[in-house]
Amino acid sequence: MAYKAPRGTVDILPQNTEKWQKMEQLLRTICANYNVKEMRTPIFEHTELFNRAVGDTTDVVSKEMYTFNDKKGRSITLRPEGTAGIARAYVENKMYGYPEKLQKIYYLGPMFRYERPQNGRQRQFHQFGVEMIGVESPYVDVECMLMAVTIVQSLGLKDITLHINSLGDQDSRDAYRDALKQHFKPVINELCHDCQERYEKNPLRILDCKVDKDHQSMKNAPRTIDYLSDNAKAHFDKVCSLLDDLDIDYVIDTNLVRGLDYYTHTIFEVISDDPKLGAGSTVGGGGRYSGLVEEVGGPSAPGVGFAFGLERLMIAMGDDNNETEGIDVYVMPLGDKARDLAMQLITVLRAQGFTCDMDYIGRGLKGQFKSADRFKAKFSIILGDDEVEKKVVNIKSNTTREQVEVALNDVVSYIEGELYE
Ligand code: AMP
Repeated sequence: MAYKAPRGTVDILPQNTEKWQKMEQLLRTICANYNVKEMRTPIFEHTELFNRAVGDTTDVVSKEMYTFNDKKGRSITLRPEGTAGIARAYVENKMYGYPEKLQKIYYLGPMFRYERPQNGRQRQFHQFGVEMIGVESPYVDVECMLMAVTIVQSLGLKDITLHINSLGDQDSRDAYRDALKQHFKPVINELCHDCQERYEKNPLRILDCKVDKDHQSMKNAPRTIDYLSDNAKAHFDKVCSLLDDLDIDYVIDTNLVRGLDYYTHTIFEVISDDPKLGAGSTVGGGGRYSGLVEEVGGPSAPGVGFAFGLERLMIAMGDDNNETEGIDVYVMPLGDKARDLAMQLITVLRAQGFTCDMDYIGRGLKGQFKSADRFKAKFSIILGDDEVEKKVVNIKSNTTREQVEVALNDVVSYIEGELYE
């Protein structure tokens, strides 16, 4: 029987991994630039963590989690997002007691959501995320947004807009919740079953509904920013003025609510209008979460963060820069003695830091040159049994097409000289 990868998962093949690694390297470099350190948390956590942190009424928790009982009957969930695990680890490892009050953390890895697979939506996908925990300051919100903008700019993404909104603090959210209930009350029977449940449990989620998004009541719904407390308004105003000072373009998007429950104050999304993704696709987003750390058993430690979907970044980057790096040397032995020596030669070359490979299967010159081409080797070293006797090799530059005979003992210094001249 032929096996297939489970629906919604993909294999990232060798010809594509270089592009992934380049993107990951760029993200790591930007993190170093912002003094953000990596943290690695488990891929599965106790289900209860996500119920609490992300929220029972969110689509992610109520419909999309990969949850199973382990052999001892404990309910385990493959992480659908990264923030809950980071918050759990922050508390468990007492990171709130670290001398540096603001902990700046990033993560990168697979996430799992049982969603309908489509372009840019998978069941196993990858997120890169940043969390800054410990300080409630609009400067830190803006630092996150700056990072997010730097990332999309560095990746060369076009047609990108930063959308921002504020959900305010608990007082603002309570006032807003009442206003939403009043607004939707007359039409609640026209909305989908999920929305009717959301109306009772968490009316904010109604605004996030994919089914009823075109219903008239969505268009004239009350706006979060009209319900901000003085404190929340001052925070949001400062965020906007800092973005203005830094010349960062943004739009205030009063309909933005985000899909997870833990957000408070500033929320933002990086939206791409690139046709490859479909207009209005979110490549990344995040926001402030003032109560999350307490919710998972820690002290009051407000955080702010964001996450990008790497598959979506990859689609938006397109196929430009798809050139793979070539290897330095491809060694081409012709004959058994030559093959033995070739193995020694590539071992010496590799020890010197050169990237190399060789033919192991005794093909003729033509086949071996084809491999050298496919590997984009800068040099081919041709080695017949005659050359072995004479202790020389022929080195062909695949850029100039020139070929020279070099003494075996001088191969390393010759390649070094040619590559680093
Ligand atoms: P969220 O954690 O829902 O705020 O998502 C953050 C980012 O992760 C989104 O903007 C997407 O780029 C990406 N993302 C979320 N769900 C998926 C998925 N099922 N497949 C691929 N990317 C996803």
